[in-house]
Amino acid sequence: AMSDCLFCKIVDGSIPSTKVYEDEHVLAFMDIMPLTKGHTLLIPKKHHENVYDMSSEVAGQLFSVVPKIANSLKASFQPVGLNLLNNNGAPAGQSVFHFHLHFIPRYDQTDGFKASWQTKEKQYTSEMFAEYAEQIRLNLSK
Ligand code: AMP
Ligand code: ZN
Repeated sequence: AMSDCLFCKIVDGSIPSTKVYEDEHVLAFMDIMPLTKGHTLLIPKKHHENVYDMSSEVAGQLFSVVPKIANSLKASFQPVGLNLLNNNGAPAGQSVFHFHLHFIPRYDQTDGFKASWQTKEKQYTSEMFAEYAEQIRLNLSK
């Protein structure tokens, strides 16, 4: 465990948290600055800074409990929707550098969560998509 990591301290119990789910590999707890009622965080118990730093094994352990937690939030609070969010890197909004997946139950358009989604499809062509896909495929196999 990283000694100066807030979420490692939550895992080892030296900082309190309000737990909702725990198993050998992962922990879910209430976000202390919730955007909406039921805002929950899911983390791997081992320290991984962000998605780039996770093995597919750890990612699998983490995501395997996502439907269970999502369905529990749905049953508990009857939200009209649910956003799953993961910020990687400070410019993307990451403030705690131990991987975490946000569960943000949604209630209405003024519930405090807003993702600005401004598509720019006019700037891209199918040739550009083909080029990007080729680049990604090359790097996937490295
Ligand atoms: P992010 O900005 O994606 O890195 O999210 C970090 C989240 O951790 C924020 O939503 C914070 O409210 C939450 N957070 C920070 N400290 C604690 C804590 N001690 N217990 C629970 N959640 C926390
Ligand atoms: Zn950590």
